[in-house]
Amino acid sequence: MELITSVAEMALATSNWQAVGLKVGLVPTMGYLHEGHISLAKRARAENDKVVASIFVNPLQFGPKEDFSRYPRDLERDLNLLEGAGVDAVFHPTPQEMYPEGFNASIEVLGITDVLEGAHRPGHFKGVTTVVAKLFNIVSPCKAYFGQKDAQQVAVIKKMVRDLNFPLEIVICPTLREADGLAMSSRNIYLSVDERKAATVLYRALTAAQTAFENGNRQGDALRKLMNEVISSETLAKPDYVSVANPEDLREYAGLIPTGKGVLLSMAVRFGSTRLIDNFQL
Ligand code: AMP
Repeated sequence: MELITSVAEMALATSNWQAVGLKVGLVPTMGYLHEGHISLAKRARAENDKVVASIFVNPLQFGPKEDFSRYPRDLERDLNLLEGAGVDAVFHPTPQEMYPEGFNASIEVLGITDVLEGAHRPGHFKGVTTVVAKLFNIVSPCKAYFGQKDAQQVAVIKKMVRDLNFPLEIVICPTLREADGLAMSSRNIYLSVDERKAATVLYRALTAAQTAFENGNRQGDALRKLMNEVISSETLAKPDYVSVANPEDLREYAGLIPTGKGVLLSMAVRFGSTRLIDNFQL
């Protein structure tokens, strides 16, 4: 497995592969990898001739009060895990390499970025789409792999690809969870022992709403209330938002959810200074 830190070398590697007809799959990550990330890499391995994983903690997608500088990093461990998953090359540029002096461009998807994560993290998705567009241009993948764990990110990237005609396929992979239901996340490491126990409340709230929905409760407001009630049973849990929305346009369902329409249950909940997100798509 190659470790590549320069944009020019990464672009050259993929253009050499493509010149001989090899198809490239890309798995963008911010590192500090867990089994969720590795499941994306394994899926990419099964579906492409060459697999590139990127490890880049993208400063553009963190707000000034967010955890950019303390975001966990462990390159050596990540490289071992990716090698084990059969990845061919890891692209690990510095912020300076991605955003050299004078860098002054951005890609922004409007509308669906105003709600949910976008409403609580201004500028976050502009940072995400800018870096993902750069990665797509540098690596030129045929397929790029993203986790359903970040449901709004999935919707935003799919819209960017559609609206701007990026010539690739977005592949969405299911959320991997710990045995007690907590969605795997690099940020779980921040949780204290008590917060870690309380953090299963996201999964419990989502499961309660899913069960209610399956038993015929099709009222957006009632499902939101139910999730809020479960969350408030944990004193350490402070919700940023709880949502019952259409998975495509991310608009909230208020009253009756029309039959045949998809439903995205999602939430962001704080435990001390740690903010966790999770979702179920029904
Ligand atoms: P991150 O390093 O957090 O930016 O995540 C990189 C990719 O892994 C994103 O597409 C995430 O949605 C995906 N991912 C993160 N956590 C999980 C998980 N628990 N299961 C599956 N995919 C995940």
